[in-house]
Amino acid sequence: MTTLRIRPAIAALPAYVPGARAEGPGVVKLSSNELALPPSEPVVRAIVQVAEGANRYPEMTGQTLVEALAARFGVGADQVVVGNGSVALIQHLLDTVCQEGEEVVLPWRSFEAYPICAAVAGARAITVALTPQARHDVPAMLAAVTERTRLVMACTPNNPTGPALSAQELGQLVAGVPSDVVVLVDEAYLDFVTDPAVGDALDLLADHPNLVIARTFSKAHALAGLRVGCLIAEAGLAAAIRSVATPFGVSLPAQAAALAALEPEVLEETARRSAAVAAERDRVVAALRDQGWAVPESQGNFYWLGVGSRAAALAEHFRDAGILVRPFAGEGVRITVGTPEENDRALAAAASWGGSRE
Ligand code: PMP
Repeated sequence: MTTLRIRPAIAALPAYVPGARAEGPGVVKLSSNELALPPSEPVVRAIVQVAEGANRYPEMTGQTLVEALAARFGVGADQVVVGNGSVALIQHLLDTVCQEGEEVVLPWRSFEAYPICAAVAGARAITVALTPQARHDVPAMLAAVTERTRLVMACTPNNPTGPALSAQELGQLVAGVPSDVVVLVDEAYLDFVTDPAVGDALDLLADHPNLVIARTFSKAHALAGLRVGCLIAEAGLAAAIRSVATPFGVSLPAQAAALAALEPEVLEETARRSAAVAAERDRVVAALRDQGWAVPESQGNFYWLGVGSRAAALAEHFRDAGILVRPFAGEGVRITVGTPEENDRALAAAASWGGSRE
């Protein structure tokens, strides 16, 4: 408690809950959707190489990285903004477009930072329940848009439940939102998608200037510890977001690492690693279903056990087996795909759970 004045919207915020940190040897951390492997060697070398120059500021807006990303995505450099993780950029975007009392429509359950970011921007989060298959309910999301809506969010694949939007669903969402309302499509886990029916918002960008895409280096690129992500947006909106963003928001080693991660041979290795993670995901989900668990389809590097009120007890059961997972109180447990050995341990722990598996 403090006697100093805090904005009521901030005082009322729920705390952002990070995944538990591993404590001690033998404990497997499957709680934060990170990659189980260290960054590729050329990326580590790039980080080390810039260490001696750390007395100098990095490029203020990360222009070299911005240009590399623009080339990769086939967009103008004026359409790319980099920041201190995609979560910081999502906050900057909301701060840029929302005024006090305006509305943000978002799917729920989804990434827990979304309603927090909306509240920090002074906006009201209008949550739209997922379907029974744990997918976005696109018609219901469109029906939730009012004249107060400034932004509609989508998360594909959806953290924490796993399904991704098909190209058809994505097209329906983007086409159905009024052109003066921003549609943010968060593609943090897109690299792990293997279903060819899944859409990529990048394909819709040219026809929809109100579309904003969030990407991150934290997942497939194995750089969660360095904090770097990007937004792709219409140039005028991108400029406005840049004016809100923290100056020098991406550190020198983070810029160097992200640039190295975009080199063709590193991208190839990342694609191979992502395919291996996806194959492990499919193996584990199939084995869990054989054990009687009701697991929604996942296109991310994680899977969801929607056990409702038993979430805390199930997370405790995994913890007793030395596996840290992420409980969502009253809803379910999210487990990250790890190495094959880690996944086998998770499967063994799941098999020994005595309670309900739905
Ligand atoms: N979007 C989604 C859907 C996420 O799950 C996460 C991280 N858990 C983020 C964004 C944030 O990523 P970053 O590390 O780039 O801030």
